[in-house]
Amino acid sequence: MEQTNKTTKTYDLLIIGGGVNGTGIARDATLRGLKVCLCEQGDLASATSSASTKLIHGGLRYLEFGDFKLVRSALLERKLLMNLLPGFIKPLRFVLPFKKGMRPLWLLRLGLWVYDHLGPLGDLLPTAKRSFQNNEFSPVLKDHFIEGLEYSDGWVDDARLVIFNALEAAQIGADIRPNCKVTSAKREDGHWLIALSNGDSIKAKALVNATGPFVNQFIKEAENSEPLRSVRLVRGSHIVVPKLYDLEQAFILQQDDGRIIFTIPYEKFFTLVGTTEASHVSSLKKVEASEEEITYLLNAVNRDFRKHLKRSDVGWTFSGVRPLFENSAKEKKAAHKVSRDYELAVDKAADLPVIHVYGGKITTFRKLAVDTVDLLKPFFTGLGSSRTKEVPYAAFDPVGHEEWLKEFHEQYVLLPLSLRNRWLNSYGRRSDWFLKGVKSKKDLGKEFGAGLFEREVRYLMTHEWVTTSEDVLWRRTKLGLHMTSTQREGLQSWMQEQQERSDLYQL
Ligand SMILES: Cc1cc2nc3c(=O)[nH]c(=O)nc-3n(C[C@H](O)[C@H](O)[C@H](O)COP(=O)(O)OP(=O)(O)OC[C@H]3O[C@@H](n4cnc5c(N)ncnc54)[C@H](O)[C@@H]3O)c2cc1C
Repeated sequence: MEQTNKTTKTYDLLIIGGGVNGTGIARDATLRGLKVCLCEQGDLASATSSASTKLIHGGLRYLEFGDFKLVRSALLERKLLMNLLPGFIKPLRFVLPFKKGMRPLWLLRLGLWVYDHLGPLGDLLPTAKRSFQNNEFSPVLKDHFIEGLEYSDGWVDDARLVIFNALEAAQIGADIRPNCKVTSAKREDGHWLIALSNGDSIKAKALVNATGPFVNQFIKEAENSEPLRSVRLVRGSHIVVPKLYDLEQAFILQQDDGRIIFTIPYEKFFTLVGTTEASHVSSLKKVEASEEEITYLLNAVNRDFRKHLKRSDVGWTFSGVRPLFENSAKEKKAAHKVSRDYELAVDKAADLPVIHVYGGKITTFRKLAVDTVDLLKPFFTGLGSSRTKEVPYAAFDPVGHEEWLKEFHEQYVLLPLSLRNRWLNSYGRRSDWFLKGVKSKKDLGKEFGAGLFEREVRYLMTHEWVTTSEDVLWRRTKLGLHMTSTQREGLQSWMQEQQERSDLYQL
């Protein structure tokens, strides 16, 4: 019989959940000197944090519900993150077309004026009035739009942001364990004793439950306890369709039900359309767009754009679930009116704390992490203040960035510019890690399709916790969109072969 050596390691803090919040907390806590372990049941960012609309924004629509505090705090984070991650978080212009029967134009202008002034714009362009007649918008929008407004926000590859948090945390000592589910957590003999799906166990002084939509499921199943807040699970879906228009801007389409739909230029040849709000009643293991949601998004586009979309134009869909919490069980607001702010619920029994993270946004993950780790101060003597405002991410260190960029292009001049740009967008300075010694395309090894080469895949397998082709094609990159099914299968078989000969896949 095979002998297995199960281990029990001891940490200060165990974080459950490898989404943007869990990895953000891991980075913050490790930077403050805590010994941290993070367990994620699947791939990093495999749940909500790869299924968002990917906006780094204040949330214009939250102004309508009077959530000024959330909007201001998110706008401050937008500025901070754009400075910390230059080139990774990109500015994006949003066109808000106006037609009769919508929120009045003066109200939209007022809202956008407030939006531009509530937080710092930094290098972003301010709001401007736009006409849609006899210009580049005329072939795109239907005739019922004559004028509108254009404003700025930020855009990020959400799944890669999670990876950068995890990489930074790991670099300074955090133990990051994907594909490792926490199956039980109990207080025993002066510490938390945690059981993992691989048979290992962990001892820790404190826990953070950053399981996103699984927050209450974790409390019930792993802690065998009662949830501290009630949440409503609401699914949001996106569809990816062939490019709707040849403009750089995103559009915001106002819907008759009071909601808004974004259309965002995506992966060069596509447009991302979303999102929906549907009550999610099935398992959290299966989060998929329903036909009803797909039809809703297609109708939203077809109502306002000249280009007509059919069901067969939908090339990919993805969905995520928000755990919306309400302060009062009686208050049953429409999902789009419930606050997107977060709440941290602390249970400090036996001086062994667990913090449950409820809600949040990609945009505010850093602030959420600061607040979470601050709550641990009474339990760890000498735990200092957060350093995430000033410590740069190695891949996007702004110091000497221009010089590095120039050298990068010079060094790899024989490789196609489109490839160099994709790597820079996805990996920043880490591109050097897998390009070391590469002179021309033939040094990149086997090509799997769509500009994905062996070098990059080996790097992802050895340095970014990748185990399946899904991780490569839909989270570390979005090259799945550009490949045929035969190419995708080819990648999976190659990766399996490499894993069987694990000694060979070191860089
Ligand atoms: C449709 C949609 C659009 C959105 N758009 C935006 C946007 O444009 N901008 C913005 O700022 N925010 C947006 N958000 C919000 C944002 O996506 C979420 O707030 C954020 O991703 C939540 O991250 P998280 O880490 O809390 O949760 P998740 O990313 O869901 O991570 C939780 C992780 O915990 C893991 N887990 C669960 N149980 C266990 C266990 N027992 N053991 C180990 N691991 C476990 C899960 O596998 C999961 O990976 C959007 C949300 C949705 C749903």
